[in-house]
Order: sequence, then structure tokens, then C-alpha cells
Amino acid sequence: MKATITVLPGDGIGPEVTTQAVSVLSRIGTLRHHDFIFREALIGGAAIDRTGSPLPDETLSICEQSDALLLGAVGGPQWSDPTAGVRPEQGLLKIRKHFNLFANLRPVKAYPALALHTPLRADLLENVDMLFVRELTGGLYFGPRQEQGDGDTAYDTEVYTVAEVERVARVAFQAARRRRQKVTSVDKANVLASMRLWRRTVVKVHEDYADVALEHVLVDACTMYLMTRPASFDVVLASNMFGDILSDEASVLAGSLGMLPSASLGSSTFGLYEPVHGSAPDIAGQGKANPVGTILSAAMLLRYSLGLEAEAQAVERAVEAALADGARTADICARGEAYLSTAEFTQEILNRL
Ligand code: NAD
Repeated sequence: MKATITVLPGDGIGPEVTTQAVSVLSRIGTLRHHDFIFREALIGGAAIDRTGSPLPDETLSICEQSDALLLGAVGGPQWSDPTAGVRPEQGLLKIRKHFNLFANLRPVKAYPALALHTPLRADLLENVDMLFVRELTGGLYFGPRQEQGDGDTAYDTEVYTVAEVERVARVAFQAARRRRQKVTSVDKANVLASMRLWRRTVVKVHEDYADVALEHVLVDACTMYLMTRPASFDVVLASNMFGDILSDEASVLAGSLGMLPSASLGSSTFGLYEPVHGSAPDIAGQGKANPVGTILSAAMLLRYSLGLEAEAQAVERAVEAALADGARTADICARGEAYLSTAEFTQEILNRL
């Protein structure tokens, strides 16, 4: 197949990790006879320095002409003045909004080899493999708010429409069909009207997915279950705020922030793929960045935007095999243990593809 992939390296370790993910995509393309065309464009602080804008028009037009976007990270201390008119994150928010990417997918997997790096007992981590589907463009973070007034009162409003819940619920049920056929919908239906609409709508959408099991869990209980029975989750469907908080809580199960991938999708196959971590200025330029989050994001790109499931699994298996064989970057090695550089670690993955 032929596909155009726009690479947005961004700032800090962004260019280091996207370079590694592109080498994995190129290799899988060669091995399976696909024609992947990579185009690079500016975003974030790097774009501000060159053009004055965190998302130049040229970047947007390159993105519009591609099948998928692979992003590193944006931001850094040199652009962090809160009073500045332009900030690197604006580029990312603008791109999500421009392409109406309403579903954020974050898989969280526990690797037995990395159990030492998590706060949980090793037996609780067995078979932990879940996918968060978080609503990304509605809810509390986008509802009407009041911050000024007399200074004594402030409010944020959670607003959801049936259409908004329906479309993200469909993403969750469809994802569950490719996995272990279970969706856990998180809400607070016992207290909030918006969450009663959420639950009602999820139940209705479920009628089209009778082959998938559906459970409802209240958000407060969910925070406990993620730690006490993490292996029981398959797909976790949550609102913008609940998904934000719960996916961060669950990320500790993976052993390092550097391990976690994500995808942001809309109503077509087009998507934005990026690691969960930021630009890590403290380790930038030192070859210490863990490229796994970005490489697994590239695997999601193969799966969701290009429909190449076998290729996606091949990448995921190569990552697991490298870890199982003891390959480590600095963030996941035991104290005093030798570790590989970002490029050396990627080579271990390439060797196993
Ligand atoms: P961060 O995720 O960049 O780093 C947090 C810690 O995790 C650091 O100690 C870092 O060294 C480590 N880390 C992160 N990724 C790693 C990797 N791949 N391998 C090894 N270690 C890794 O978060 P931060 O320090 O709070 O933010 C730094 C900058 O990144 C800020 O400007 C912030 O705004 C930005 N940021 C961007 C995004 C994004 O682009 N999506 C997300 C979060 C933060």
C-alpha cells in the first residue's frame, strides 16, 4: 500500500524519538512491500523560532495532504513564559481541533520484565493490557466557564450531547472487537446529569455491539480497581476529564512514561499519533530517551490509519521481544546496570522485526 505520513518532530527529545519510529516504519514498509512517504513539518517551539507560529500554515497544509501524523513532543523552558502570546502547546491543541480528533486512545500494558519499575506487586501486573478511549473535544474542559466576576466564585460546566458520547462510544466498542470484547464505561451517573446521559447513550450504542460485554463503573471505584484488579480491564471508555486522570493513574503500570503511546482519532481513518510523554528537556540530546512510546505510536498508526494490523502486531512483538531479552534504555534499567542509547535500543527492535 502507498501512504503519506507527516512527521512532526517538535522539541526536546521529540526529534530523537520520531527518527527512531520512522526507521521502524521504513523497515516494516520494506519488509512488507509498502510504499511509505515521509514528510517532515515544523510544530511547537521549533516552529515558533523559525516562523513565529507554533503551527505554521505550511505545516497544516502538509498535514491535510497526508494519511496520518506522527508527532514527537512540543515545549521546553525557552518557550515557557506564561505571558508570551504564542506557546508551543497551542500548535498541538490547534491541530487536534482542526482535524476534529475527538477520541484519544491510550493503551497501557504491563511488561513483566519491568515489574521492578512499578509500585505494584508483580502478580497484579500479570496480563495487564488495557486501552483507554478518552473523549477529547467535549465535557468539562470545553464547557462554559467563569473565572472572573467578584473573585469569590468560579465554575466550569460539564456539557455532553448524545452525538458526542455516541461517536466516542462507537470507537470504544469497535476497538473492543479487535481485542478481548469488553468495554468498561466509567461515569458518575449516581450524581451528575451529564453522566446519566453518558450512561444512557453508551447503553443504547451497545445494542449495535451485542458481541461485546459492557460494564459500568463509577469513577471513584475505578481508581481503586485500576490498582487492585488491573488485569480485568480491556477497553476503558471515559469522558474527557475522567479519562485524563485515570489514564495517568494507569500509566504507572507500564514502568515508565517513555513506554506509553497514544492515538487521537476523528471520524475517518486519519489520526495523530504521539507518545504520552513530553519533550523531556532534562535528557534531550543525550541519547537517553526511551523510543518505545513513539515506536508503539507508529504501530497504532499502522493499525488505525493504514489498516495494517499484522504489521502493527509485528512491531509490538519486536518491542516486547527486545525487552524480554534484556534490552534497556536509561529510564528502565536497574541502578548501576548498563543501558543502551536511544538508537542502540531501536536497533534491538529492528533486529527482531
Ligand atoms: P516530560 O514528559 O517531558 O518529562 C517528565 C519526566 O519523564 C522527565 O524526567 C523526563 O526525562 C522523563 N521522560 C519523559 N519521556 C521520556 C522518555 N521517552 N524516555 C525517558 N525518560 C522520559 O514532562 P515535563 O518535564 O513535565 O514537561 C517537559 C516539557 O514537555 C514541557 O514544556 C511540557 O509542556 C511539555 N509537554 C509536552 C507534551 C506533548 O507534546 N504532548 C506532553 C507533556 C508535556
